Amino acid sequence: MTTTTRLSSTSNRFRLANAREQARLNALTEVASYRLEELLGELGVDLRLRGKMWVGPCPIHGGNNASALTLYPDGHTTRGNWKCRTQGCHQVFHCTLLGFVWGVLSFQNGWRRREDSRCQVAFKEAVWWVCRFLGVKLNEVQADIALAQRKQFVAEMATLGRYPEQLVEGWELEQVRSRLVLPSPYYLARGYSAAILDRYSVGDCRSENPADKFYARTVVPVLDRQGRRVIGATARTHHPECAHCKRWHAADAPCPEGRDDLRRPVYAKWRHTDGLCVEDTLYNWWSAADPIRRQGAVVLVEGPGDVWRLEEAGVRNAVALFGKSLEDPQQVLLESSGALDVVLLLDQDKAGRTGVADIKERLERTFRMRIPEVAAKDVGDMTAEQVRTQVVPLLSRPTKEIPT
Ligand SMILES: [Zn+2]
Ligand SMILES: [Zn+2]
Repeated sequence: MTTTTRLSSTSNRFRLANAREQARLNALTEVASYRLEELLGELGVDLRLRGKMWVGPCPIHGGNNASALTLYPDGHTTRGNWKCRTQGCHQVFHCTLLGFVWGVLSFQNGWRRREDSRCQVAFKEAVWWVCRFLGVKLNEVQADIALAQRKQFVAEMATLGRYPEQLVEGWELEQVRSRLVLPSPYYLARGYSAAILDRYSVGDCRSENPADKFYARTVVPVLDRQGRRVIGATARTHHPECAHCKRWHAADAPCPEGRDDLRRPVYAKWRHTDGLCVEDTLYNWWSAADPIRRQGAVVLVEGPGDVWRLEEAGVRNAVALFGKSLEDPQQVLLESSGALDVVLLLDQDKAGRTGVADIKERLERTFRMRIPEVAAKDVGDMTAEQVRTQVVPLLSRPTKEIPT
């Protein structure tokens, strides 16, 4: 995999090679997923089929929580999508079937924790293992691009204007940037600086087709931990919240009708690329991880806009939840961050207060929690100057310290 990453950056010829190799890997995954039960047996992994998914203790970090690992034979983008809910092993190895095999082989090689990078076997070992299992050579696997094109991810990348180069490893940041109107006119109009939008590669979708997923939205790429590749994107609608239906749509368009219609993602404030598990990551981790470790503190906010505003005001240790709730893998990430203090800065609305209570309960055993009272409803709605004078002083001073 690392080879494809390196190859994919420059010329068209290499990009094509990369796309072809990705198609082969996808085809390999697809074929292997039809023999999943046999494959699990061959790997020596003990999972039980429960409804539509396989469940069991995680065979990658070797835990004993009997429902830590879930594996879905029928993923919506890639078959064999899996998740380790206690240690987040799928974040180290990819959440695809090949990633799963990679993880199990690494476990068998002595891998137990993220830090054990030396025990991690090479990704190509997993590819070879699956090829041996299926009795095929990688370059003989039918690279069924027609099949791949029916998949959702192609539709999404088509929205951004080109053929996808990635599935497993993330997209090239430069490629994604080249498909957007950058820096985002939408966020410039909301008072964010061109510099901050450029730093975070925030750009408006160019599509003029209302049927496109990201039409009339601003695309916010989510980077991997190194800040090099784009693992997915979340996109904010340009429409305001409708006063009648409380969903987001054009002012001159009719409100959605009926409960089902209301829930359609097209009316959501934010839409994610398919396959992006926002609950598995924290926005801005790539940039904030070092400052968090150095300062021993992390500022937890709701959305990317809050992160940018804080960053404009000189706060470098903020990460966003993509919402108002904290998920298990995000908690694991925080616990591994080296922070002792968590400053919780959710929006001051009703849902935000509910989120605060829940997050406080979950984190206060591990961290010193601070929950500053901020006058404005939402940090993202303040100017950078207001944040500097009204919020930043609250971050470094305990306002409501919870005794441990
Ligand atoms: Zn695990
Ligand atoms: Zn409406």
